[in-house]
Amino acid sequence: MSADPTLLIRGASLLGERTADVLVADGRIAEVGDAGTLAAADETIEADGLVLLPGLVDLHTHLREPGREDAETVLTGSRAAAVGGYTAVLAMANTSPVTDTAEAAERVWDLGRQAGLVDVQPVGAVTKGLEGEELAELGLMARSRAGVRVFSDDGRCVADARVMRRALEYVKAFGGVVSQHAQEPTLAGPSACCHEGEWSGRLGLPGWPGVAEEVIVARDVMLARHTGSRVHVAHASTAGTVEVLRWAKAQAERDGTWSVTAEVTPHHLLLTTELVAGYDPTYKVNPPLRPDEDVEALREALADGTIDAVATDHAPHARHDKEHAFADAAFGMLGLETALGVVATVMVETGRMSWADVGRVMSTRPAAIAGLEGHGRPIAAGEPANLTLVDPAAAVTVDRDASVSLSRNNPWHGRSLSASVHTTLLRGHATVREGRLA
Ligand SMILES: [Zn+2]
Repeated sequence: MSADPTLLIRGASLLGERTADVLVADGRIAEVGDAGTLAAADETIEADGLVLLPGLVDLHTHLREPGREDAETVLTGSRAAAVGGYTAVLAMANTSPVTDTAEAAERVWDLGRQAGLVDVQPVGAVTKGLEGEELAELGLMARSRAGVRVFSDDGRCVADARVMRRALEYVKAFGGVVSQHAQEPTLAGPSACCHEGEWSGRLGLPGWPGVAEEVIVARDVMLARHTGSRVHVAHASTAGTVEVLRWAKAQAERDGTWSVTAEVTPHHLLLTTELVAGYDPTYKVNPPLRPDEDVEALREALADGTIDAVATDHAPHARHDKEHAFADAAFGMLGLETALGVVATVMVETGRMSWADVGRVMSTRPAAIAGLEGHGRPIAAGEPANLTLVDPAAAVTVDRDASVSLSRNNPWHGRSLSASVHTTLLRGHATVREGRLA
């Protein structure tokens, strides 16, 4: 006897490749059969023309709870994630208080399970209070109920090489990974807010040169190699970083004892630095929007696997933090609800990536990097039914006021994006149906 109603997804294109019927029962994929061959279930989704992907996984989400529940909560961020096709998100540690203890990590984990829309997996801070000095309780967080595997001081760079080395050594014991916000602070300090170049000069904004990212990425891959550990590069934003990654990945593959992985955000794949010309703080983000040549290098690196994953860096902000003069406004943009549409527009519509590639960079690889079991799995019988059904033909014009996030700092407002999320299933339960929260 089946506890839950059964669900048949009829005639979906699995990863954009073969058309099949998928039967979901008791939270799992019960059967995958040729299109039109599986018998009716309690409920049927007619998925003709839709693409079925493993549920999306975001390595980089700011949920703001605890501390800034006026900008986002675990519940509202989970809603945005589900609408965006996500079944798991990694919640960054720069909350108030910081997620730097086992208790704090368990609290975030519990809030995620209470919301029940996506698996919220806490990221642990690398250093206490994100101060960059003393290591946080990495082992205790790893052994906690939350099972933390990804550690990051994101928002800040672990600038001290000795601290970074120790963190890399420490996380090896439990298969953890350090996700680095690469920003060398003497080259790009806290006020740096615009790509250093033509526009920072014209607008009189403090410059954030690409080399401030590249020197940290170069240093960290050497430290990962030295310690035999795993480093992950958060929000890669420059062509120089891509060059370092290409070299480092070749070394790591040859050595077989360490690894480097990297993510790129949707905004760094499509938006460019001249958008700051109007001093609109919506376009203020860290790292900053870069010139065309960087954007092109990031697209190429994502397509060829040098960059492993797309991660949103979803960074909600209350109006009173964002609506300031450019130099004083908070850094960050919304991203969860629009990521798939941006990737479809930039990479799939243009023929640079297939839907199977999208499944790799938005689900399989991020789940593997984060060590999330049950996500990013093949669409096959016996696997957990964490699935996203995409309508590749449904272009949408983004309306920031239609967002389920609490915040409105949406750089995609008014833009047309190709493809949209039709249905999201978390362990067989629809969190989103026909593009809306179920
Ligand atoms: Zn960051």
